[in-house]
Amino acid sequence: MSDFHSLTVASIERTTRDAVIVAFTVPPALKASYQFRPGQYLTLRTQINGESLRRSYSICVAPHDPLLRVAVKRLNDGVFSSWANEHLKVGDTIEVMPPDGNFTTEFKPGNQRHYAAFAVGSGITPILSLIKSALDIEAQSSFTLFLETVPPAPSCCGKRSKI
Ligand SMILES: Cc1cc2nc3c(=O)[nH]c(=O)nc-3n(C[C@H](O)[C@H](O)[C@H](O)COP(=O)(O)OP(=O)(O)OC[C@H]3O[C@@H](n4cnc5c(N)ncnc54)[C@H](O)[C@@H]3O)c2cc1C
Repeated sequence: MSDFHSLTVASIERTTRDAVIVAFTVPPALKASYQFRPGQYLTLRTQINGESLRRSYSICVAPHDPLLRVAVKRLNDGVFSSWANEHLKVGDTIEVMPPDGNFTTEFKPGNQRHYAAFAVGSGITPILSLIKSALDIEAQSSFTLFLETVPPAPSCCGKRSKI
């Protein structure tokens, strides 16, 4: 499960001045490997200036979304996040490890729960996946989000944060 596979960038959406949402196409043969639970992350690997770099990014969509998407917020002088924001293009391929992580919970249609989450900045990304999944699967449940944004830095997901 820890092998990297080359995935093609299907779209890049600039959500704020300092963040992009990168979507990957998963070929049919790899669909099973890239099934994920809300809250999990992907590890991306690429060569930048001759160096192999790997960084993790939380999946920001629910499992039923047709494309796998991560949001990458540019950090000042951050090597990978700056490269993703400035140089990554639609059609490029990048090595992606199958989803991993335990920051998740199981949602069931019969549940009637009240969830609460606290997030700061780009920490919103796994929470977005959890909120979308909870509200899609559990019609009787509700979700309260406490989100701290640090002015003037905008949230990494822009309008997508308005659920
Ligand atoms: C499970 C997980 C999920 C994550 N999900 C997301 C997500 O959804 N979205 C997201 O945007 N990020 C996410 N991250 C963070 C992401 O993995 C990267 O850490 C982030 O993008 C920074 O990588 P970078 O290569 O751009 O920065 P780096 O080059 O690693 O630098 C990080 C910071 O350290 C500073 N720095 C570097 N070297 C030095 C030094 N020698 N001295 C002083 N300062 C230095 C840089 O200026 C920069 O500000 C996640 C991380 C984890 C572990």
